Amino acid sequence: MKVGFVGLGRMGEHMARNLVRAGHDVTVYDVRQEAVEILVELGASAAAEPGGVAIGAEFVFTSLPGPAEVSDVWQGENGLLARLERGALGIDLSTIGPDTAKAIDDEARSSGKRFIDAPVSGGVWGAEAGNLSLMIGGTAEDFEDALPVLAAIGDPDKLYRCGEIGAGSVTKLVNNLIGMSTNVVVAEAFSMGVKAGVDASTLFDVVSASSGDSATLAQWKDSVMQRDFSPGFMLSLGHKDVRLAIELAAQLDIPMPVTSVAKGRLAAALDEGWSEEAVAVVVRLQESEADVVIDGR
Ligand code: NAD
Repeated sequence: MKVGFVGLGRMGEHMARNLVRAGHDVTVYDVRQEAVEILVELGASAAAEPGGVAIGAEFVFTSLPGPAEVSDVWQGENGLLARLERGALGIDLSTIGPDTAKAIDDEARSSGKRFIDAPVSGGVWGAEAGNLSLMIGGTAEDFEDALPVLAAIGDPDKLYRCGEIGAGSVTKLVNNLIGMSTNVVVAEAFSMGVKAGVDASTLFDVVSASSGDSATLAQWKDSVMQRDFSPGFMLSLGHKDVRLAIELAAQLDIPMPVTSVAKGRLAAALDEGWSEEAVAVVVRLQESEADVVIDGR
């Protein structure tokens, strides 16, 4: 298939690689030339501007930081929608709010083009291994059409159609507000346990094998436990996801007391200048206030 891809970051680079490996004819663009060059060495073609990846493409992917970049790349001047072929399918893999997905879809449909939101989960490791889970919003027909290309980046058993356009983004926000809020709670719990005299590594092993286990705690193995806060998933992106979840809840008139506290903690960590660290770095706030270090080495 002829495929376009914009946004070759921590996730996008691996996803674009896997599309090339699967034999697709991939054209890429990123504002960072060095990221483009890596893909070109692997056999992709380079476009000089985002819209260039859409020329002749049957499928065009984006994996960008958030709603502002996604709206700009799709709907901005010389953006993807202007260049997408009639009948071609746009697929956004970023985490955005459902309103952004619906706005792009509306504009796409008005000119005979198609769009689905398909945010991903599984981290950089899942992107590299090509076994991400995908949460897809769009028509059943567009979902079916996308499956052959989505199978190059996601686990074929984890490609979920969640509903109409925007439903993938809603599902992703549900998933991530759980993960981000859990990080804050695990930091509190572990600071108490370590200060009360139990080794961090003992706490980790026992809780991992007990009812307090979670996907978030599993991610602590290589981050907090090793005192390694290199991303992975950046704090700035985690904060963006919680902000989007709270905005959606406000539109629906739903109280989010716990998530609001988690957002405040992530915002305080951002204020410390840790935006490009892994999201688990929020533990350092708790450590400084509790006067304890959670170190599993
Ligand atoms: P990233 O910041 O590493 O990558 C974003 C890429 O987009 C960068 O290469 C950047 O240069 C490029 N970019 C930014 N603006 C651009 C523009 N206007 N035109 C072209 N390229 C542009 O982010 P990431 O970690 O790869 O995450 C990408 C998306 O996936 C985000 O929405 C994030 O929330 C989501 N996500 C990330 C993870 C993770 O573990 N990192 C997991 C699931 C979902």
